[in-house]
Amino acid sequence: MNAIRPHIGIVGGGLAGLTAAYRLLQSGMVDVTVYESMPTCGGRIQSRTIRSEHVDFGGFLIYPWYTEGHKLFTDLHIDTCLVQTPLDDILYILDENDHAITEDAVAFPPKETVKIWTKSLLKILQKSPLSEPDLDRFNGKTISEYLRSALDTQEHAGIYETFFDTVSQGYCYGSVTETKAAFMMPIVRQVKFHGDIRSTSFFPQGSATVIDHLVKEITALGGTIQCSTPITKIDGHTLQSHDHHFTHDTILFAQNVSPDLYRTILPDLPDVDPACTYTQFLTVAVALNATPTFGTSKPWGAAFYAPDDSMPEQILSVINASSLYGSALAGCVVLNIVLRDRSPESITDESISAIAHRELTRLFPTLIVEEILESVRWKNTMPIAQESFVQSVRDAQGKNGYYFAGDFLGAPSIETAIATGSRAAERIIADHS
Ligand SMILES: Cc1cc2nc3c(=O)[nH]c(=O)nc-3n(C[C@H](O)[C@H](O)[C@H](O)COP(=O)(O)OP(=O)(O)OC[C@H]3O[C@@H](n4cnc5c(N)ncnc54)[C@H](O)[C@@H]3O)c2cc1C
Repeated sequence: MNAIRPHIGIVGGGLAGLTAAYRLLQSGMVDVTVYESMPTCGGRIQSRTIRSEHVDFGGFLIYPWYTEGHKLFTDLHIDTCLVQTPLDDILYILDENDHAITEDAVAFPPKETVKIWTKSLLKILQKSPLSEPDLDRFNGKTISEYLRSALDTQEHAGIYETFFDTVSQGYCYGSVTETKAAFMMPIVRQVKFHGDIRSTSFFPQGSATVIDHLVKEITALGGTIQCSTPITKIDGHTLQSHDHHFTHDTILFAQNVSPDLYRTILPDLPDVDPACTYTQFLTVAVALNATPTFGTSKPWGAAFYAPDDSMPEQILSVINASSLYGSALAGCVVLNIVLRDRSPESITDESISAIAHRELTRLFPTLIVEEILESVRWKNTMPIAQESFVQSVRDAQGKNGYYFAGDFLGAPSIETAIATGSRAAERIIADHS
């Protein structure tokens, strides 16, 4: 390590950037400044207080196999705050008749199901880490192409595609015809071999508790966080934000992929653009006069709707807030609404209200919308990355004093953000030793 402590600049104060900052500072060998464009840190971790409960609008479900995540929560002494999500039914509405079913009632054809699993076994048996998937394993196929290639006839492909699409888009991922299998299959593997999607936990005090603890630790360890500082230009090791310039020995890029910025960082790449795009969603909490019912008396936790591309905006998932947060939020739902042909930035509060009213009336005509409680416009909801782009970023890791972290590098998730942040920090420390 140099006699003078290297000063690391980190662009982006989401989970990836903050985890990296914390791990770097823990080493005691470097100085760190984080630049965050927004007034507060957190990125796609956003909790809001509604009726005294901490409701999550961004990432919140923590799976048991999030090893780097659990390690971080243990180090921050918040692992004991995690609570298992209630085992209430997860419902799927896959046809136009609004018939809600649980996964075990989906009419997957048995012979084709065996075929898909047999053909997929070799592909998914061997581990492909969430945060660093094997980019070549699915030969560049999208999920749809992969599913269809695993079946001899295309007759029954529809139900698998529809189900996969409903689940993934309900979680705000891209469609099966866009999303590459290499990035999503590591999640399928874990779900299949290590528990169903209900084996998750969450922070009842909101996932923002992770961000709050990281910010506190970073500050206590002598790190600096500069919010409201969007990095707009990069020249070598100098970061520019409006009229301010910040020069660092090493820079870690942990912000969302912006083609312009990445063209500067990876100038040798001819085809960076459009190798990583993002889905666009609104997340809206609404108070209804009663909790929606789906023809079942069993308590439900979430309902997922099959995507319909002909609709410009569509509710793709509804979370029953009282199932997670208790009776204070009885009748409240959190909606994930996909925006197909207009940007979230162009949408006013009035339009959000109009879209939520229209969509809720369509789905639940007998219920009354009492109040729009909160909403978040997600411009960069979930990344849809191409293998070639991620490979280029992997190849550039550590070159020219540039490092990279963020959920676009793997299966987009809290785990990938934390793991890539930790790994980048380890690499920076090793390279400076
Ligand atoms: C609605 C929703 C639900 C989700 N649910 C789950 C879930 O249940 N479980 C799960 O595992 N994952 C979930 N996720 C995904 C998870 O939240 C993300 O994968 C993770 O938070 C990404 O962290 P990150 O640090 O990579 O990116 P971000 O959180 O996006 O952080 C990037 C940061 O960089 C900042 N930035 C961007 N450009 C600049 C710039 N030029 N200069 C300075 N700063 C900049 C941004 O403001 C942001 O704060 C969900 C995401 C969303 C949106």
